[in-house]
Amino acid sequence: MSLDTEFERVSLPLADAFTISRGTQETAENVIVEITDEGGMTGIGGAAPSAHYGETADTVEAVLPDLLDVVEEVGDPHALTEIEARMRETVERNPAARCAVSIALHDLAAKRTGLPLYRMWGLDADETPTSSFTIGLDTTERIREKTEEAVEEGYEVLKVKLGTDRDREIIEAIRDAAPDATLRVDANEAWTPRETVENSRWLADHGVEFIEQPVPAEDPGGLQFAYERSELPIAADESCVTLSDIPEIADKCDIANLKLMKCGGLLEAKRMVHAARAEGLEVMLGCMIESNASIAAGAHLGPLLDYADLDGSLLLESDPYDGVDLAKGELRLAELGLPGTGARKA
Ligand SMILES: [Mg+2]
Repeated sequence: MSLDTEFERVSLPLADAFTISRGTQETAENVIVEITDEGGMTGIGGAAPSAHYGETADTVEAVLPDLLDVVEEVGDPHALTEIEARMRETVERNPAARCAVSIALHDLAAKRTGLPLYRMWGLDADETPTSSFTIGLDTTERIREKTEEAVEEGYEVLKVKLGTDRDREIIEAIRDAAPDATLRVDANEAWTPRETVENSRWLADHGVEFIEQPVPAEDPGGLQFAYERSELPIAADESCVTLSDIPEIADKCDIANLKLMKCGGLLEAKRMVHAARAEGLEVMLGCMIESNASIAAGAHLGPLLDYADLDGSLLLESDPYDGVDLAKGELRLAELGLPGTGARKA
């Protein structure tokens, strides 16, 4: 067997500038990986590097030749475990780069078996949670408009970015514009532990479901303080990067928020799901701002999740790839009708 590989950088403009407590993003730099077998069948994957975790499109492009050498040396698209392990030995950091290769390989392996990826894994398409749609930071008036638009488009679960000096005003505007929506809050490390406990009280009064990453990841004691006193469940995102973080956060939060681009591959993500469950945590899968070249693969993990936040492609002006239908945030795996992840040129 032999495998051909290539990659290409794509610059994806966002539908709206996306602001969180740390800063604003107007485009997403993704790198698309293709792996083709002898019969001409191609698997597609994408890297959506995050500067917060030390990766950029430049670093992805710098390490991909070494990672794709591993793929070509092994040469077997079904050797998913071996290739993921050898990639981790070759490039310890750069999880988004490794993840793009992992996704492309899984897509190819599933296509070769003629099954959608979730079916290759034996998962039940009816067990998927509804994905949230994210409302980024903006003027309160613009936030209200974005919320009204999201409700009109049928999104019933909204994730609200907070971490400003007008957080209460923002939540009041969103709750007013979306009285029936499930609301989740993500402070992206902007609060102190005490602020988190105080904020949890009025957020609970507004029917918020949980609070994601209220305090800095560098303050595990603060996360534990917030978890033990908060009125609302706490999800860990920036505090939950790789498998070894799961036991560390087990007594400091209720929900582990995994992301493919943090953990570096689909097999590793599945290990994290099971480790989190063994520690009594609920599991959420989030994403970066990503093309369907990678989001499509995340959707296939849907049946293993309690919460999904897979709106990365929905925040783009346009996506060069189609994937799993996510209209209204519903992960419509059963309707995919394609082998692999479903990632394909739009
Ligand atoms: Mg987050």
